[in-house]
Amino acid sequence: MKRKMFLKDLGQKVICKMKKNLENTEVPKVVVVGHVDHGKSSFIGRFLFDVGEVQKEKFDELKKASERRGVEFEFAFLLDALQDERDQGITIDTTRIFFKTKLRKYVFIDAPGHKEFIRNMITGASSADIAILIVDVDEGIKQQTKKHAYLLKLLGIEQIITLFNKMDKVNYSEEKYTQTKFDLNKYLAEIGIKCHSSIPISSKLGDNIVSLSKNMKWYSGPLFVNVLDNFKVSETKISEVIRFPVQDIYKIGEKRVVVGRIESGRISKGTKLIFLPSNERVDVKTIEVWPKAKKEYVIGDCIGITLSEQIFVDKGNMASDTIFPPKLTNRFESIVFWLSEKKISSKKKYFMKINTGEYEVSVNRIKRVIDTENLNIKKNNTVYKNDVCELVIHSSQLIPMDDYSFNKSTARFCLLDNEEIVAGGIIDLKNYPDQREVKELPKRNITPENYSVSEIDRSMKFNHRPGIIWLTGLSGSGKSTIAKNVEKKLFKRNLNVFSLDGDNLRIGLNKNLAFSPEDRTENIRRTAEVAKLFTQAGFIVLVSLISPYRSERKKARDIRSELFREIYIKASVEVCSKRDVKGLYAKAVSGEIKNFTGISSPYEEPEKPDLVINTSIEDVDESVNKLEEYILNEFSF
Ligand code: ADP
Repeated sequence: MKRKMFLKDLGQKVICKMKKNLENTEVPKVVVVGHVDHGKSSFIGRFLFDVGEVQKEKFDELKKASERRGVEFEFAFLLDALQDERDQGITIDTTRIFFKTKLRKYVFIDAPGHKEFIRNMITGASSADIAILIVDVDEGIKQQTKKHAYLLKLLGIEQIITLFNKMDKVNYSEEKYTQTKFDLNKYLAEIGIKCHSSIPISSKLGDNIVSLSKNMKWYSGPLFVNVLDNFKVSETKISEVIRFPVQDIYKIGEKRVVVGRIESGRISKGTKLIFLPSNERVDVKTIEVWPKAKKEYVIGDCIGITLSEQIFVDKGNMASDTIFPPKLTNRFESIVFWLSEKKISSKKKYFMKINTGEYEVSVNRIKRVIDTENLNIKKNNTVYKNDVCELVIHSSQLIPMDDYSFNKSTARFCLLDNEEIVAGGIIDLKNYPDQREVKELPKRNITPENYSVSEIDRSMKFNHRPGIIWLTGLSGSGKSTIAKNVEKKLFKRNLNVFSLDGDNLRIGLNKNLAFSPEDRTENIRRTAEVAKLFTQAGFIVLVSLISPYRSERKKARDIRSELFREIYIKASVEVCSKRDVKGLYAKAVSGEIKNFTGISSPYEEPEKPDLVINTSIEDVDESVNKLEEYILNEFSF
């Protein structure tokens, strides 16, 4: 009996979420953005009045009150008054205004005056279906006009409606309208946003909003209301790739129900899922939706599921299909809108919210700050409030994430500093590898043979221990030069030594690998395995490989950690490009080579290398002697 009650309770919770969801998907969500004082509130007030959503008495009363106080009535007052009283037929809550035209229902999300729209949009509290950008035609395009347009672009909005307000202030000048429109369209084209329609309006007098202006004979339409009603809200494609962020776990007797909203793909009984970051695979055993579950659920549906096996699932985990799961990474690049007066600090820990997950992160590097005014890169890397910047972010945990080109909604995150939202952004993973450990390798009945000559026997004979000397650093930093010279010197001293060069391996063993993050990872794995074989043969192996990612070098170290030494061959990008031994930097700068470390692909400096050789300040002999001495100290008896 108790169990039934529980189930009912669960059912209602799920239904509640589903209802909320329906409300969200069926009514197009409209957001109005623009520079301060360009007329967002007046426009909404006027529009609600013109479509008949405001009672006449309310309007008259407000007009009289304004007259009494000797101030000119403004439609923005209407919005304030409605928000204060909320006694109208229309529903206003703190951030949303529901309204209808003759054709359909809508909701303005983030009522202006509330001033939270940027925060809400960035945090994903609301994502707009239709975006309207208002420009005061008299003042022209201002800083926030551009910033807000850029923000819409970051949030994945591809086309917008532009309203040129206050036409009455410029004597309804067609020329002024055409010029402002031209300027704005130029900017929108640069950032890749399409202008769906442009309309010259006056919120004050109601021109071209719901009825055609008598003052602009040169404009024959369309009216704003018609543009809105005809705006096709893009139907989200039902992707087969599953993303199901876990919102909660309900315990019902023995059952553990995993609850969440499907962000993409479809889920039914029997669907195979992988849970991240644990990387565990299970099947969907049942779907728990009250009163009766459908066969299949799709994007936007809120459901509860039980799993075929008891695995540890927590709020914030991401379930996905097993073929295209999100990457797991503890480092990523991002394009971020900085919302706080506080400066970014690399020493600070921020709280990152992504989908339903929360992680502690730090800002590793400010790659660049973009001037939204002209889209140039700012010379000085200081980030101020409302700046757009590119950051490299680091976490000590692995975070499941998608690149924003794959899915704008799951690739969105925000950063908090002591509960204040300081930034919102999108994830750019193209430069970083998946750090997932392959958990389930196919079982192939393999039994390794023991070697007949042991490693110790070999060491005793050669008079030194085997070792992996891993030289990491930018291209041209000096890895090969140092390795070749050290190899020669150690060989003369009768040590068993061999040099494995990244470029040489790429001609043979690794010739099927390119320079994507995944291929670089495989390149490192294979090289480390070859190095391991050499150590088993008793050799000291000098590996020269850029190996740009910390996580991958750690994996290489983990293969034989007691024999592994990380040597950082340090030289700045400037020094290496000046040397440009192989002419590669010139090609990378001209764009001929893509994913080139230091130029178009990241290099993560070692945090605690066993030895640093700074070739910017040392000459070749010094560097070679230093490494030779180090190896002799570490490995000879
Ligand atoms: P990598 O193998 O790291 O790509 P290379 O060894 O091919 O780099 O090239 C490094 C270049 O830098 C060579 O031309 C070398 O003469 C020069 N160089 C200058 N100083 C040093 C140094 N201290 N150690 C090694 N190379 C140096």
